[in-house]
Amino acid sequence: MENYKILVQNQKSFFRTNKTKDIGFRLDALQKLRNAIKKCEKELMDALKADLNKSEFDAYSTEIGFVLEEIRFTIRNIMKWVKPEKVKTPLTHIGSKSFLYSEPYGVVLIVAPWNYPFQLAIAPLIGAIAAGNCAIIKPSELTPRTSEILERLVEEIFPKEYISVVLGGVEESQSLLNEEVDYIFFTGSVVVGKIIMEAAAKNLTPVTLELGGKSPCIIHKDANLKVAAKRIAWGKFTNSGQTCIAPDYLYVHQNIKAEFLHHLKDAIRELYGENPLDNPNYTRIVSEKHFNRLQSFLNNGEILLGGKSNPKTLVIEPTVLGNISWEDSVMKDEIFGPILPVLEYDVLAHVIDGIHRHPNPLALYLFSENNNVQQEVVNSIPFGGGCINDTVYHFVSPYLPFGGVGSSGMGAYHGKGSFDTFSHKKSILKQTTLFDIPFRYPNTKNGLKKI
Ligand code: NAD
Repeated sequence: MENYKILVQNQKSFFRTNKTKDIGFRLDALQKLRNAIKKCEKELMDALKADLNKSEFDAYSTEIGFVLEEIRFTIRNIMKWVKPEKVKTPLTHIGSKSFLYSEPYGVVLIVAPWNYPFQLAIAPLIGAIAAGNCAIIKPSELTPRTSEILERLVEEIFPKEYISVVLGGVEESQSLLNEEVDYIFFTGSVVVGKIIMEAAAKNLTPVTLELGGKSPCIIHKDANLKVAAKRIAWGKFTNSGQTCIAPDYLYVHQNIKAEFLHHLKDAIRELYGENPLDNPNYTRIVSEKHFNRLQSFLNNGEILLGGKSNPKTLVIEPTVLGNISWEDSVMKDEIFGPILPVLEYDVLAHVIDGIHRHPNPLALYLFSENNNVQQEVVNSIPFGGGCINDTVYHFVSPYLPFGGVGSSGMGAYHGKGSFDTFSHKKSILKQTTLFDIPFRYPNTKNGLKKI
């Protein structure tokens, strides 16, 4: 195995040259990254097809297009973000001025998962570059074609001592964690998130943890049911449910359940056709292990829609499960696949209690036209972020920092949120020497005396 000590040391030495702090250098790096991505767009789409059977539409809209937009937004705003921010100074500090300097940490380690293997490696990199850091990316071993292109793309435009990609799995990831980097940005499961944080604690390395969990979606009795059904079907079944912020399960008000499910079935058919298993654009499950795990949920409750699968192509139909309770295995952990269990409720308080009794969700979605209901849900449940009357869409706004809370993660990124994540805010007081206010000094002419 390669010696990562040397790689990290070389990056640290390069960082100390201060080149990466130069704004022209950062802008140039972002432009290079944008051009390189555009150049290998087709190759990337092919790789995403091979790794996950992602359609060109999905590959572009959820991976390539997303990061190109993030680069464009960063280039447009970086000059504002890098300026030292002048803040207020109290009267006690008269004569001085106060500033916050955004300073890069140094060498950043980015560990990425397989479900959006390109986007979830590159989006943090954009923030790391913008803030003036060096970076090492460890992409997922489960999507080898995409990870290889990522490595080639980075190698072609950046020297290793600035940005580097390390291919491999758990072993490589743990070797990198043994090195003393200056920041760790991890996206992945809760279980591995804990391992990362433990490793980071040894060197007191700051971390961002973008984790997962069960994200609820509540459909209240006053919701626009047709619109809700379409937006939920899209948010849940895009990428075959292998999205960290996909609605994991539904809480549907009992009065509208039958009508809503009717719309949901229509919406799923409209998006994936009568026979999703034969749809060439339907994403597959990443591995046999995950396929078998998901397959085991199909005997929970009753199948209201879908339920068929193909172990040869690793595809599972968009599936809706009824007659489900919190005791079923499908309700124990994040599903991360195209299976959507439906719980029903009569009063909102039961929903709030139900969610409260489980770990903090990464996302929460509520469909309701009632402002009081919206406020009650937003104010009384802890979750990373989410949408009212939509699903997943908050993720793609550069103005909304994205991240979890509690077991769904810590820290946030996207847009200025990424720049801030990868910057230490150095507080500087700039004092005048024209005068010296005496009140802070002990009142004595001959040194300190006992009173
Ligand atoms: P994972 O935690 O298994 O792996 C993520 C990365 O960690 C991979 O690069 C892997 O090689 C590495 N890794 C795995 N085991 C390790 C170990 N023991 N020590 C060190 N490194 C290790 O996650 P995954 O299966 O790739 O992704 C799915 C999970 O990621 C889901 O739980 C999902 O919710 C979460 N996720 C979260 C977000 C988010 O933005 N919050 C986005 C996508 C996925």
